[in-house]
Amino acid sequence: MELFPPEIEIIRKRVKRLSLKVRAEDERIICTIPWFVTKADTLAFIEKNRPWIEKQKQKIRQLRSMHIHREPGSILYMGESYRVVTVPNATNPGIVNHEEKIIISSINVDDLSQRKEWYRLQAYEVLPPLIHESAKQHGFAFKKISIKHQKSKWGSCSIDGSLNFNIKMLLTPDYVIEYLIIHELAHTREFHHGDKFWQLVEECCPNYLEAEKYLRTIGRILEM
Ligand SMILES: [Zn+2]
Repeated sequence: MELFPPEIEIIRKRVKRLSLKVRAEDERIICTIPWFVTKADTLAFIEKNRPWIEKQKQKIRQLRSMHIHREPGSILYMGESYRVVTVPNATNPGIVNHEEKIIISSINVDDLSQRKEWYRLQAYEVLPPLIHESAKQHGFAFKKISIKHQKSKWGSCSIDGSLNFNIKMLLTPDYVIEYLIIHELAHTREFHHGDKFWQLVEECCPNYLEAEKYLRTIGRILEM
């Protein structure tokens, strides 16, 4: 049994290379390594990436001070922390009270897979009406919507006008959600990222730069 410092959690997997992550919940360093990498090599890898790790920790603390951080018993929703009251015979996703920042649902919110399921069901409920409304308001036409858990992309639009959105967008504030929707809708008219595309985005969503900034900074470290 190899012993690592308590701030490090090692996951041995069939992977080709070592990778690192700082978990937002407890700031532990999660290091995924291939089966045959030694403890010494793992520690050297972590040391080499120490500046990056410290930067991540700073970001996590910043988010926490802004309350963009999930505490036990709560869930991050639209850029804010909502306390979840678990009622076994409530439904999932349940009832969201925006004024009180309380969600009444059947889920155990401290279980990641149950949280993911909550986001999935909530996304199916709230996103399609927003997308339809935005398309109508700005005169865009699209073929269909799909909403999924995705690793990296916030959204995409295919050449035939099918829109694809990442469930994770529910973690971002409403103005960011609005921008993400406009961004993909705008691709139904301008299928590129050239000047004409950004002009169109700006017409429909004047504060899009603020949303872009959020996605580049906070958006990168948001966790379900
Ligand atoms: Zn795009």
